[in-house]
Amino acid sequence: MPASSPSKKPVTPRRSLRAVKSDPVPPGERRLRFGEQWQYAPAPEAHDHLVIAPRHELFINGRSVPPTSGRYFASINPATEEKLTEIAHGDATDVDLAVQAARRAYEGEWGRLSGRERGKYLYRIARIIQEKARELAILETMDGGKPIKESRDVDLPLAAAHFFYHAGWADKLQYAFPGRTPQPLGVAGQIIPWNFPLLMAAWKLAPALACGNTVVLKPAETTSLTALRLAQIFQEAGLPPGVVNLVTGPGDTGAALVRHPGVDKIAFTGSTAVGKGIARALAGTGKRLTLELGGKAANIIFEDAPLDQAIEGIIAGIYFNQGHVCCAGSRLLVQESIYSTVLRKLRDRLQTLRVGNPLDKNTDVGAINSRPQLDKIRGLVQSGLDEGAELVQSSCPLPAKGFWYPPSFLTGVTASHRVAQEEIFGPVLSVMTFRTPEEAVERANNTPFGLSAGVWTDKGSKSFKLVNQLRAGVVWANTYNKFDPASPFGGYKESGFGREGGIQGLAAYVRLT
Ligand code: NAP
Ligand code: MG
Repeated sequence: MPASSPSKKPVTPRRSLRAVKSDPVPPGERRLRFGEQWQYAPAPEAHDHLVIAPRHELFINGRSVPPTSGRYFASINPATEEKLTEIAHGDATDVDLAVQAARRAYEGEWGRLSGRERGKYLYRIARIIQEKARELAILETMDGGKPIKESRDVDLPLAAAHFFYHAGWADKLQYAFPGRTPQPLGVAGQIIPWNFPLLMAAWKLAPALACGNTVVLKPAETTSLTALRLAQIFQEAGLPPGVVNLVTGPGDTGAALVRHPGVDKIAFTGSTAVGKGIARALAGTGKRLTLELGGKAANIIFEDAPLDQAIEGIIAGIYFNQGHVCCAGSRLLVQESIYSTVLRKLRDRLQTLRVGNPLDKNTDVGAINSRPQLDKIRGLVQSGLDEGAELVQSSCPLPAKGFWYPPSFLTGVTASHRVAQEEIFGPVLSVMTFRTPEEAVERANNTPFGLSAGVWTDKGSKSFKLVNQLRAGVVWANTYNKFDPASPFGGYKESGFGREGGIQGLAAYVRLT
């Protein structure tokens, strides 16, 4: 290139928001407020056809049974605070009945079935989930507060896919572990959280059944409804009694399951604090354990990243499920040179997020799952402010009833702030900067957790290098929060141990001889 020719392309001035603002407004028209052009007419998903029984019992030995204590607790819709139904409060006696039923099934009909026959049940369950996807999605949204877009397009297809995937493995386990003989463990006790109620049930149940185990599952207290609906699906699929048992109730019910001597394995997904307690309780018992715990993922965005695509991924990774995602990208690490651009884009996009009725098909951000969770989010944001961070919040109106938190981000966060260290589990992003890839890795790894991370860069070599340096079980490159049943998921450090999904996930449910 001749020395005199310009080395840079000529810069075309872009119409900034300010330039648009200064355009004259034609007479009789008014200037749209920022974000107004993205308003949609309400498009609520009909739910009047959905009948929710006023009371839900336990599911033991293939039947609905009342809790021995005779006690029930209310399950509410967090978007309206309306009571949806009441749910059986199972206690240690019920857990014992469920474990006995699971043992009988394991030593009886289920234990004698071939992998091929087990696979048929799993295929059948997967297909019924697909058939009932709409009903299940609505139920999930009403019970947990997540937008119907999420439950319909993410939770349900993935839950069905998980059963399909493991149905395929049921008669091929010897190929998963070449040269070894995989044997089931026996009775698995499974405890799941409220953020992906049906999907977490599918993640736990499908591999356990594919490998020939029987199960006692405890759903989260605030979101038991889709798991209970799943129990009806098991009945429709003709699953033998006792293969899957559901004991609903609070944390104590989960603790009774952990303590029960008749359980061979505990699979727990939930908070790190409870996970640590379970690990202590099981120490020395010989029971197998997998723990899928909390996270504090970093999304790292480099100056060479496709910025608009990255902003979309970052937004989806923290706001689309109210941040109720263990692998939510709750820390954003921005390369210093693009900090102001990223901040402006983030602020603009925040304003366009639609917050409100989770049953509305246009809603991006639904209701916070419970009041205690809302209080926790508020408390952590306040701690950020007390420690010197600044808060940017969407100015969207929030419904008067229900539990809501506007999409927000905090700037001026340092690595020592609580919001940079603790899991917030809400729609709040902590923004920090870095200069070099080494600094990005150091900051990303600087938490007690190690569940997931995201890297946004145009350079494949840079992503590959970082992937090996980030202490996270999952690293997404130029995308975020994408799942597949064939891909193992799980954490390092205080995010737990063991993997769910893929061949690695099967290993958690077999004894290899
Ligand atoms: P949690 O309080 O630990 O509860 C999880 C489950 O454990 C619930 O069913 C809960 O029952 C039960 N439980 C509570 N105390 C117990 C005890 N002492 N013994 C046995 N079980 C007990 O967690 P959460 O607040 O529901 O869920 C959010 C957490 O889950 C977050 O930390 C998130 O990161 C984590 N999570 C991790 C993953 C992953 O794959 N790594 C996936 C999703 C969520 P109640 O609901 O009745 O209290
Ligand atoms: Mg509920």
